[in-house]
Amino acid sequence: PAVSPPAGHLSAEPHVAHNYSPLPVTAATAQGAWITDIDGRRFLDCLGAYSAVNFGHRNPRIVAAATAQLERITLTSRAFRSDRLEPFCAALAALCAKEMVLPMNTGAEAVESAIKVARKWGYDVKGVPDGQAKIIVADGNFHGRTISIVSFSDDPDARNGFGPYTPGFVRVPYGDAAAMSAAIDDNTVAVLVEPIQGEAGIIVPPDDYLPRVRALCTRHDVLMIADEIQSGLGRTGTTLALEHWDVEADLYTLGKALGGGILPVSAVVADRDILGVLHPGEHGSTFGGNPLAAAVGHTVVDMLTEGTWQARAADLGRHMHARLRDLIGHGVVAVRGLGLWAGIDVEPSLGTGKDICLRLAERGVLAKDTHGSTLRLAPPLVITEAEIDWAVDQLAEVVGSA
Ligand code: PLP
Repeated sequence: PAVSPPAGHLSAEPHVAHNYSPLPVTAATAQGAWITDIDGRRFLDCLGAYSAVNFGHRNPRIVAAATAQLERITLTSRAFRSDRLEPFCAALAALCAKEMVLPMNTGAEAVESAIKVARKWGYDVKGVPDGQAKIIVADGNFHGRTISIVSFSDDPDARNGFGPYTPGFVRVPYGDAAAMSAAIDDNTVAVLVEPIQGEAGIIVPPDDYLPRVRALCTRHDVLMIADEIQSGLGRTGTTLALEHWDVEADLYTLGKALGGGILPVSAVVADRDILGVLHPGEHGSTFGGNPLAAAVGHTVVDMLTEGTWQARAADLGRHMHARLRDLIGHGVVAVRGLGLWAGIDVEPSLGTGKDICLRLAERGVLAKDTHGSTLRLAPPLVITEAEIDWAVDQLAEVVGSA
């Protein structure tokens, strides 16, 4: 059935490049888990900017840290030191049980940086012949939008039309440790995986997969890079999603929530014997690690060090998943995920994921589709149990199971 957009949408944004197809909701303000549009209509944000707003819109503690830093100094470039960067990096490294941090801005930049570090490590430390480094990635991966990253994507929309592509990557099925083992050779420097695949539809791998990937990497002197840009920093009920499997990676890429919902902050986190392969002039970013980003990122790390956000995501996540599972067989085909993160496959006859999201928006719930008839939910961790119940009730009505 045709869906009429909620009041208050702008029919078009003629000056904005059409690389997105947003829901017809025009946000004006937000607080906590709620967004208010230009007509004053309120929406429960169940996407949380793809996990970038884990701590809620305009979290008061993060806004206070940012505001205080705005009054001091905001940007130095890395040509000079700032008094904010080393404390931030020390705290973030400690949070991840590592020694060093390479600060960047966006997620894709962190992934690109991790790839560069892994290649350099391969040549300088492992002894791979120059230009031969190989990195293994997974089918269905999503690591960002740069040329090198889309080069190893298998999503035609992300990849087609953007060649020539960067060589040096081999893709194997996600969740298949035997396939990964078969792909590793003497020139393999790293494996790059999402512990839970986000864009692919919140795909949780088989229980033995990540421990086996870890073991393979250790046995073959290959770096394990865990892209925790979407899965990390509290979303799944732990600081890093890999903790669910008791696995430690060699490098972590972090982003999204690291910026506290305020500005882009990303990082590569690893030990000194790995990040130490970078020397002055070999990598950089004008904005990476700027004092404002460091103040915000440090506040996020302090908040996560207290552990309450992770516990909240775990508790509320159990509740959300139990409620969502009740919809299976009633318009919902499958529910996946961990913590406050869910991929929901809706009965395809009910419409595309986008159709369902439009109907949810009419009822005041903002969510996002991914491929086909899949929805994903990643609400800010400040959401309450009553708000989750209300959002699930709206979904139940939309899929006809209420
Ligand atoms: N890696 C993962 C796992 C992601 O989910 C994303 C974004 O969705 C990225 C990398 C790219 O991050 P950004 O959009 O900040 O470049």
